[in-house]
Formats: sequence, structure tokens, C-alpha cells
Amino acid sequence: MTPGEYIPDPTEGITRIEDLPKPHIQQRTRNFRSRPCPRCGISAGRYALDTRTLHDLGNTHTGRPIDLFVTFSRHRCTYCGRCFAVDMTELALPKPLHTSRPKSGCSLGVRRWTRLPKCQLALMA
Ligand SMILES: [Zn+2]
Repeated sequence: MTPGEYIPDPTEGITRIEDLPKPHIQQRTRNFRSRPCPRCGISAGRYALDTRTLHDLGNTHTGRPIDLFVTFSRHRCTYCGRCFAVDMTELALPKPLHTSRPKSGCSLGVRRWTRLPKCQLALMA
């Protein structure tokens, strides 16, 4: 998909939620025995596993979204006591329920994708 390309909406005309395309399920894992502590840098052992569900736009041609089920490890530093989850910023930022991919070809989506300030994007256009 290139910017500005018109893609027909395959879900156009669907009025019932049950008739929408079902999401494609993908399993991902970010499970490590130890990770460096973000505060002091000492190796911190895993104490728990957790899961997170991320929604992704998926294939815009089929209209079928993707649900990522991510299993990740939580770590506790024995030196400074900090507890933290493994870094997943390549998939999504810490709080959002969706991945970092753009939501559409609009400028807001491009801005979210590149994480550039609006003034810099205006220079690129
Ligand atoms: Zn620490």
C-alpha cells in the first residue's frame, strides 16, 4: 500500500458485527530468563509471565484484522528492587491496545507510524 492509494473497503455495506471478517490470530512471545535492569543495568531474573492482546489493522485488501497474543516475561531486580516487563516497543508502546502500525493512509496514521512531529512531516511532503 502506497500513500494515497485508494483501497476499497471490503466491509462496506456490512451492518451486523457478526458479519465482519474474523481477526487472524497470531501468537508472539517475548519470554526471557533475564533482562538488564533499566535502572541499574544488573541482570534481573524472571518472576512471572503475562499476556497482552494487541489489535492490528491487518491486511487492508481483505479487511481481516490481526489479533496478536503476546506472552512476555516480568522481571525483578534483586539489587535495586525494580520490577519491569520486557521491552516490547518494537510491537507497541506500553499502554495502547493496538500495534504501532498506521491505522490508515491518512497523515495522522503516517505521523503515528514515524513518530515525527507534525512540522517535520510537513517538510517531507
Ligand atoms: Zn536494578
